[in-house]
Amino acid sequence: TAFKALGLEEYLLKAIADMGFETPSEVQKKAIPILLNRGTDMVSLAQTGTGKTAAFGFPMLQKIDPNNRTTQGLILSPTRELCLQITNEMEAYGKYMPGLNVTAIYGGASITEQARQIKKGAQIIVATPGRMKDMIGRGLIDISKIEYCVLDEADEMLNMGFYEDISEILSHSPKAKSTWLFSATMPKQVSTIAKNFMNSPVEITV
Ligand code: AMP
Repeated sequence: TAFKALGLEEYLLKAIADMGFETPSEVQKKAIPILLNRGTDMVSLAQTGTGKTAAFGFPMLQKIDPNNRTTQGLILSPTRELCLQITNEMEAYGKYMPGLNVTAIYGGASITEQARQIKKGAQIIVATPGRMKDMIGRGLIDISKIEYCVLDEADEMLNMGFYEDISEILSHSPKAKSTWLFSATMPKQVSTIAKNFMNSPVEITV
């Protein structure tokens, strides 16, 4: 299939077939080979509804080790709704990866329960910035070993005033990791994030 040609493994292709996806979207065609083959940072100018969740989700799932309980990937997104939506999508894409645990972390729900989920070992955390910063500060989440970090809807997160929280969160992550930023628009604040927290990112536009 066209998804196979992008470099995706059988366990993802099976899940993709189950979802009924027939052809990769533009952002998927552009982003997936870059994220799979080069250990690079990437900035993608892409609207919602373009299939961007799968564009970062497939490569992240293929890169992480589901047999290792350490948190290897972090996805930051602006709202609880988006956070849950991304978590559900990642679980559907990763349904043929035994041992995979994707955990959603967001405000307005019990920290104790979320901490319990994290304790079980989450290879991928999908989080809103405020609650994530809080839980890192309380020593409930360790992101010192993450290898992949997605900043989804970066313009929205910055509009909502999350710059300081994002900055604080990233200060607890290793310098050597790949950061993938997605944004519908590229205001100055987003370029500042790219400049301050990313390493010569490849840029794609859809
Ligand atoms: P997103 O832009 O990530 O919010 O995705 C928008 C919707 O498109 C979601 O419901 C996805 O499940 C769906 N989708 C993503 N990629 C594809 C694809 N290649 N073919 C068909 N549907 C897709």
